[in-house]
Amino acid sequence: MFDSVGGVSAPSSWINGRPAVTHGDTHRVINPATGEAITELNLATAADVDAAVAAARAAGPGWASSTPVERATVLAKLAAVMTVNSDALVAEEVAQTGKPVRLAAEFDVPGSIDNVEFFAGAARHLEGKATAEYSADHTSSIRREAAGVVATITPWNYPLQMAVWKVLPALAAGCTVVIKPSELTPLTTLTLARLAAEAGLPDGVLNVVTGRGDDVGTALAGHPDVDLVTFTGSTTVGRKVMAAAAVHGHRTQLELGGKAPLVVFDDADVDAAIQGAVAAAIINSGQDCTAATRAIVARDLYDDFVAGVGEVMRSVVVGDPLDPTTDIGPLISAAHRARVSSIVNRAPAQGGRIVTGASTPDLPGYFYRPTLIADVAETAEAYRDEIFGPVLTVRPFTDDDDALRQANDTAYGLAASAWTRDVYRAQRASREIKAGCVWINDHIPIISEMPHGGFGASGFGKDMSAYSLEEYLTIKHVMSDITRAADKDWHRIIFAKR
Ligand code: NAD
Repeated sequence: MFDSVGGVSAPSSWINGRPAVTHGDTHRVINPATGEAITELNLATAADVDAAVAAARAAGPGWASSTPVERATVLAKLAAVMTVNSDALVAEEVAQTGKPVRLAAEFDVPGSIDNVEFFAGAARHLEGKATAEYSADHTSSIRREAAGVVATITPWNYPLQMAVWKVLPALAAGCTVVIKPSELTPLTTLTLARLAAEAGLPDGVLNVVTGRGDDVGTALAGHPDVDLVTFTGSTTVGRKVMAAAAVHGHRTQLELGGKAPLVVFDDADVDAAIQGAVAAAIINSGQDCTAATRAIVARDLYDDFVAGVGEVMRSVVVGDPLDPTTDIGPLISAAHRARVSSIVNRAPAQGGRIVTGASTPDLPGYFYRPTLIADVAETAEAYRDEIFGPVLTVRPFTDDDDALRQANDTAYGLAASAWTRDVYRAQRASREIKAGCVWINDHIPIISEMPHGGFGASGFGKDMSAYSLEEYLTIKHVMSDITRAADKDWHRIIFAKR
């Protein structure tokens, strides 16, 4: 753990295998459950980004030329070291995000460790086409090479998981990394880098620079000496990151916002759909890009669904994240809570009916009660825009065509779910809903072996799974002449007189 407030400002950055002396403002990391500072950091600047990129660049050739088994060994050791330190990781994650200890201890931290273990194995499974004579005169082979220096920028909602999703496939592929976590939640990313060093990751392979988006984030995304920019965060910022990377023609991968539909057909198990809708709407206080935000429900089930969701939401325990009986903690900041509540407060003027919630408990942190808005108009802001709070909107549909039309009536395409006992309806929904993940009779679970990533305003490219390894690799074709001929057969196309 770093020094707490009252002591010397702690390093915000990890460069070239050690804590770095950075040159930015001091910054307090706040516990959103109490509004109090956990620690004070000395932020990075654009000059510190230069140092981190230089360290990653210098470490690149050595790490890229390590064998898959050498990389796998370090990453497997990292998973073991994280396991030993999992209580500390849980404590840091809860303190900086305010998420309930059950969520951090049963989802964030073990999920992150599982992802590290997955990529330790994946490092040894690089894929390509068979080496062969695709032309009679040549042998062709494929080389999969590390993309180079990766700049990655992550959000505050699942800080450790988002860091692991970006950093691990990069390291497994042989890339070196500079990561900028959100300045609101940098602690577990800094700990990840420290534990990686303990696991034997060479100096400079993983670097962390904590700073604000508009200076350090911009400097990193637009850095001329990185090769690939990967980002998880909002759609607005993702597009700025893409524009900054485009100046140098850098490859990008973007995981952006979402506005997931949850479609309940008239043959669904309505109790399962109610329970599932609330769980998927309030997880992490709704600060989840795949959270259920638009329930689209068969007219026959609509009233029962609205009443049932309202009842379950009223039973949710909002409070102290350290109490194992707490269901949801606070939102990340006072500013974010003000934004969530202002969107909810404007909903009635746009036709929405507040069934429950839309209020804050009398607690010191930035808490907000689970909220259900029924009868919302398709044009309403609460229905169309990402709120990123524990807020579910609900609308009825008339028939299956209408249900799928409404599900797809969004600029986003990250996740969706369909609730039905009819296998043909389930297949149609999974075929026709435009989203990177469609759950059937569930909503939220993820698994390291399967990809996560969206379409449209939700971005492009994949995190997790072997597909994400592809993001960090280049494909090189090596074509070798096997004829030894100076006068090659194909030269007849060029030299008319031969
Ligand atoms: P954000 O876009 O505000 O910030 C994300 C990161 O970008 C932070 O580190 C921030 O400091 C940095 N940043 C801000 N401005 C920047 C700039 N101009 N240039 C470079 N970097 C900049 O997002 P947030 O509020 O931290 O997180 C919430 C958002 O993240 C939501 O929209 C959510 O849907 C999205 N998210 C998406 C996924 C996914 O996998 N698709 C996962 C988690 C979160």
